[in-house]
Amino acid sequence: MYQKTCHSCNKVSYSSYPDGLWYCPYCKKEITDFGTIQSNNLTVVSMEKSNEKKQNNKQSPSLLV
Ligand SMILES: [Zn+2]
Repeated sequence: MYQKTCHSCNKVSYSSYPDGLWYCPYCKKEITDFGTIQSNNLTVVSMEKSNEKKQNNKQSPSLLV
């Protein structure tokens, strides 16, 4: 999940897809250019760590090639 904070109404909106146009669901302003936070890293701390490690190990060979 990705999140952005709207600079207009200061509310946080979430999306599973960070690309493309992003409109604030509260005030309908376009907030595409505002900083995107990957909220996975904020919410899941230690519980999912082993899962992330597995995924990273899977991904790293393809990144190196
Ligand atoms: Zn807003």
